[in-house]
Amino acid sequence: MGCRAGRNRLNEVGRGRLTSNQCGYWRNGLGSARPVFGASVSRGRPGRRAVALTFDDGPSPATLDILKILAEHKAPATFFQCGQNVLRAPELSQAVAAGLHEIGNHSHTHPNFALESADRIFTEFQRAQDAIARATLKTPVLLRAPYGVRWFGFRQMQQRLNLTGVMWTVIGRDWKLSANAITDRVLANTQDGAIICLHDGRGITENPDRRATVEAVRRIVPALLEKGYHLETVSQLTAARR
Ligand SMILES: [Zn+2]
Repeated sequence: MGCRAGRNRLNEVGRGRLTSNQCGYWRNGLGSARPVFGASVSRGRPGRRAVALTFDDGPSPATLDILKILAEHKAPATFFQCGQNVLRAPELSQAVAAGLHEIGNHSHTHPNFALESADRIFTEFQRAQDAIARATLKTPVLLRAPYGVRWFGFRQMQQRLNLTGVMWTVIGRDWKLSANAITDRVLANTQDGAIICLHDGRGITENPDRRATVEAVRRIVPALLEKGYHLETVSQLTAARR
């Protein structure tokens, strides 16, 4: 799930000012966060007509609907999965891993890590890392913090688990908006190098209603391709940044 400050942050980042927000971390106009909470990226290399679609909080049954749409367009995406969801439905993670896609770590149980201990932070990401690796035989190299909230302990955890943090350039607010509104919002704010944040789950809910997201993805993917964007995984999009 996204952070309430997403829209404000997007506007501030767009103006290129060093700024903070209520999620409690710092970033600058280049899209790189200060390393106090560990290395992170929020957009790709400039000057390329490429973007990355990302999906958080899966896997869930809706993941299969999204995979089907992506396959129709031969479009890769990045899925930030919760370990507990992976343990419940490893076959869904395997379906993602079997495609062109990348899987990142979104913690085990999707807590808000503000004020949490370094041990708790490490354990949460280590458990998700193990669950994803066991299900897919691939070890993630990316993480996204639940709610976008990073905290003391992230830098150490990222170093130990060899994970780079990924935020976003555009957030669809698809946990509350209609398919129309999600589509309009994403298409209006997407530029070269954008990392677009959507959701194929809802925290660790077993079978969340993601119909608005699925319908939005059905419109967004062909629209982006028509605008000339290449769709890439986050690792592909950010290769020169990390
Ligand atoms: Zn989330």
